[in-house]
Amino acid sequence: MTTGEIIVPASAEQKKNFQDLFYGDKSFKDKFMKKLKEKDKEYAEQFKPFCYTCAKLDYEDEVSRVEKEKKRKIGKTDTIPEIDIGDLSKYGNDLYFHYLGNKSINETQIINNIRVPIKAYMRFEYKCKERGHGRTIDMPYPVYEEKFKNAKGTKV
Ligand SMILES: [Zn+2]
Repeated sequence: MTTGEIIVPASAEQKKNFQDLFYGDKSFKDKFMKKLKEKDKEYAEQFKPFCYTCAKLDYEDEVSRVEKEKKRKIGKTDTIPEIDIGDLSKYGNDLYFHYLGNKSINETQIINNIRVPIKAYMRFEYKCKERGHGRTIDMPYPVYEEKFKNAKGTKV
């Protein structure tokens, strides 16, 4: 992308419009990727699995489907509609994953010059049902204990 042609300093909003005008669907892709990354982060912060890979694949499939369809249409169509694959939370739904189990991961700490293994975090393993992508959630042990003090070993 070259924005070197802009001589007058443009505001962020103007730059955005400029991109939409010149790059059309590309800016939609950027917008989608930004939204996807935010969603992924949101789930990671809650220690919940989210299939980023599936969401990205489904989006790319939809983009190529729309682009292919556009080529089939006779006559010039200059715009591609903004591509939407619906609510991204479906990729973080409990039903989207197989829960494979959990295990505690130790880390060695040196206490009074002695190397002591301590429980550092609880690792939860998941596999997405759609395409088998593995997802690992590492929950710091204190968070795990607080969350599951009455129901140890339960999935997130
Ligand atoms: Zn997946």
